[in-house]
Amino acid sequence: MAKHDYDIGIIGGGAAGLTVASGAAQLGAKTLLIEKEKELGGDCLHFGCVPSKTLIRTAQAYHTMKNAQAFGLPGVDLPPVDFAKVRERIRSVIATIQEHDSEERFCSLGTKVEFGEPRFKDEHAIQLNRREVSAKIWVIASGSSPGSPPIEGLNKTPYITNKEIFSLDHLPESMIILGAGPIAIEMAQAFRRLGTKVDVVQRSGQILTKEDKDMADEVMQVLDSEGVAFHLNTSVLGVKDLGKDREVLIKDKGGKTSSLRAEKLLVAMGRDPNIQGLNLEGAGVAFDRKGVKVDERMRTSQKHIYAAGDVTGKFLFTHAAGYEGGIVIANAIFHLPRKADYTFLPWCTYTDPELASIGMNEKAAKEAGIDYTIFMEPFSGNDRSLAEGERVGKIKMLLDKKEKPLGVQILGPQAGELLSEWVAVLNGKVKLSTLASAVHPYPTLGEINKRVAGTYLSPKIFSERIKKGLKFFFHLKGRACGEGQ
Ligand SMILES: Cc1cc2nc3c(=O)[nH]c(=O)nc-3n(C[C@H](O)[C@H](O)[C@H](O)COP(=O)(O)OP(=O)(O)OC[C@H]3O[C@@H](n4cnc5c(N)ncnc54)[C@H](O)[C@@H]3O)c2cc1C
Repeated sequence: MAKHDYDIGIIGGGAAGLTVASGAAQLGAKTLLIEKEKELGGDCLHFGCVPSKTLIRTAQAYHTMKNAQAFGLPGVDLPPVDFAKVRERIRSVIATIQEHDSEERFCSLGTKVEFGEPRFKDEHAIQLNRREVSAKIWVIASGSSPGSPPIEGLNKTPYITNKEIFSLDHLPESMIILGAGPIAIEMAQAFRRLGTKVDVVQRSGQILTKEDKDMADEVMQVLDSEGVAFHLNTSVLGVKDLGKDREVLIKDKGGKTSSLRAEKLLVAMGRDPNIQGLNLEGAGVAFDRKGVKVDERMRTSQKHIYAAGDVTGKFLFTHAAGYEGGIVIANAIFHLPRKADYTFLPWCTYTDPELASIGMNEKAAKEAGIDYTIFMEPFSGNDRSLAEGERVGKIKMLLDKKEKPLGVQILGPQAGELLSEWVAVLNGKVKLSTLASAVHPYPTLGEINKRVAGTYLSPKIFSERIKKGLKFFFHLKGRACGEGQ
């Protein structure tokens, strides 16, 4: 008789868990997937990427309508937004994608799906719905939840997080957002564009603190010009429920206190790993405040128990969760010692303009003590960008001393899409000269990628030495116009 009920058991049916479940089952492993909610899909589908990007698109459409005159169109008086209709659109997009993440589909791939909250009994067995189930290998992919910071009065004040914001029954008149990470900033712009008065409170002097300050500041300027009020270098002293409104007591850098009032309070101050109730101690799995500890092969302190995705507290992105799920498959099913490598992990904040990044930015290079040179190209020099009415932003390429690319950041229209070319270039170790000489269609935003590679190469091509050589060999006569003529 088999020693265990399953070859592999996965806890959590989000991006990481679903990747492992479909891969393992299709490779012939007897696979169990356990999800505590009623449906598969995780945060990304239900409360994260999908609803936020759907909302952002709606807000962008309304913003464009409001700014019709900038496109040479007649100005229009728009009726206010009916958020119930926006919510409906969000729901329908989620429902369409849900079909892909359904229990039936996973069953057809060979995965047994069970709903419930498992608890480790020991390192191979769990308690699930009053039964004991065992697996040779376990994968913890239970994701993360909005953090609840220790703010005076927060436990007595109604507030919303990413769990509630996409299903509000009406558009709030006003909203205070605590935190200025990607979720906070994306929501600040989207709700402001829909018509909500938005205040963002941030403890440090920069929004999007992982990004370079020049890039983050440009995003902030755009949001500021659209009416979002920023309170930087500001700490939250406490919050209060005033009945219809919420009040936030704040203190600025100089020690001056004041208060903000709004209908809704959005708390977006970090994420906590979903490890409560799993009894990780009982399975001998080490963890800390940030999440389950894993090595480069995604193995926990118990070598047959893996963890992937947000629960590890590393890179909180869907594509990182999927990538880590692939590392688990390689190690647990193929028995290949594959290690996770985050050198060229891309990400994007979906503001308008978007801010996308791959590899090292200046901040990361400085922290690592690496010397670098920057090459930049503004979107105001890109013909397509101008035709689209987009003038803000730039591409920034960092090269190390040996002129090898360290990373690229793009602030501009469709930056997330534009970054894909760099994903291929950097992972494929493509030479910058190849990118610079490759023909790109005109006029496209993508030409900016070719152009920045060109800015690095042109001083070499048009150097005095090359010019002298050509002059000597081919008897070139020099300038026909301008300086020195
Ligand atoms: C507002 C918002 C916007 C975002 N936008 C983006 C974006 O644009 N791009 C991007 O890459 N990332 C984005 N993210 C992050 C992304 O959602 C996460 O990184 C991703 O969902 C992580 O996948 P995961 O599998 O680790 O966790 P999840 O997708 O959260 O899946 C974990 C699953 O485990 C289940 N679970 C939890 N505890 C248990 C338990 N005890 N037992 C059984 N099941 C359990 C949960 O119910 C959930 O279904 C966004 C997040 C938020 C909040």
